[in-house]
Amino acid sequence: MYPEPGGIRPGAYSARFHARRGGVFRLSERVYNFAAGPAVLPESVLKKAQSELLSYHGCGMSVMELSHRGSEFAEIHAAAKERFKRLLGVPDTHEVLFMQGGATAQFAAVPLNLMGGGSASYAVTGNFSGIAAKEAAKYGAVSTAYDGSGDNFRHIPRQEELDIAPGSAYFHYCANNTIFGTAWDYVPETGGIPIVCDMSSEIMSHPVDVSKYGVIYAGAQKNIAPAGLTVAVVDKRLAGRECAATPQVLSYQKMIDKDSMLNTPPCWCIYMLGLVLEWIEEQGGLEEMDARRRERSAILYDVLDNSKIYLPHAERTSRSMMNVTFRTASAELDAEFVAGAKKRGLMNVKGHRLVGGMRASIYNAMPVEGVRALAEYMKEFEVGHHA
Ligand SMILES: *Cc1c(COP(=O)(O)O)cnc(C)c1O
Repeated sequence: MYPEPGGIRPGAYSARFHARRGGVFRLSERVYNFAAGPAVLPESVLKKAQSELLSYHGCGMSVMELSHRGSEFAEIHAAAKERFKRLLGVPDTHEVLFMQGGATAQFAAVPLNLMGGGSASYAVTGNFSGIAAKEAAKYGAVSTAYDGSGDNFRHIPRQEELDIAPGSAYFHYCANNTIFGTAWDYVPETGGIPIVCDMSSEIMSHPVDVSKYGVIYAGAQKNIAPAGLTVAVVDKRLAGRECAATPQVLSYQKMIDKDSMLNTPPCWCIYMLGLVLEWIEEQGGLEEMDARRRERSAILYDVLDNSKIYLPHAERTSRSMMNVTFRTASAELDAEFVAGAKKRGLMNVKGHRLVGGMRASIYNAMPVEGVRALAEYMKEFEVGHHA
């Protein structure tokens, strides 16, 4: 199982090494993976996938080898979609689409489908929303409802700071800024302008009122599946007006008509999504995921708020519960922190180059023990280094 709370595991590295050298890779020797995405998946899900790998439900083939038009996969696909709808509470007005090309493809799909050659408003609160706005500007007029670049994206705008252009075909924002570690704690008021939201790094981490959104999209590799699947939840009333040059694989209407089976879907990822959603349901659903993200993030922010050496990146009222960003006073000390973490099996805590310092991504599948281990390490590191 996972290492004990406290995280002092001097033998962690060599144990893993021996396991590999002996030719036996044991799942039980996993590390705590704080990567931003692709990211940690529930261990029980990986084990289940492993147990079904060679012969899915006795059919003699792995899910990777099944025809996407066959009955086994049809069931996997339908069940994953049903679970997704149930867990997120997707109303009948909206359709769940399994697409490809990552959130990055949605940066183009959204304006292609919704802009109608007109204009759209974008709140730029980080790297990805900036890229999304740039991509949209290829297809129509983009107005910036908020630009957070001035303080390197520490701040999430309050409603009164938003300048949403009247007549916009939609308003786009990114709910959780994976790189900068900030998040919106409210759904903006737009006066009836459809809301499009990039939820890549927080999808399925808390309940959402889907009816408030025109489109929700998410690259699945942060919180709900392996890389290769993008989920879009689309208000059907907004589909069917895409620009004529829209590639069919990016057309919401085409994908709705074909139930996401326009072409070969990412079958394995959809299967894994189904397993992860099943796991979330077993754990207690999105209310439980919400409680856990609050618990996990509070542990780390508590260390940061009581520290003399760590500086959090995000403004206090803009903090993310999924990605916790911080640094020390110097890049050298940051590097030492990251190296020391790795020695304890606390992996991938190096920050993104746009922010520097450290980032702990603590998605649904990160056990609270992993967060406690990181918090313990942070405190010890501080004791060893404060001036
Ligand atoms: C990772 C990420 C993206 C980019 O996703 P891809 O699937 O790599 O295209 C976009 N938006 C957010 C919020 C992300 O975290």
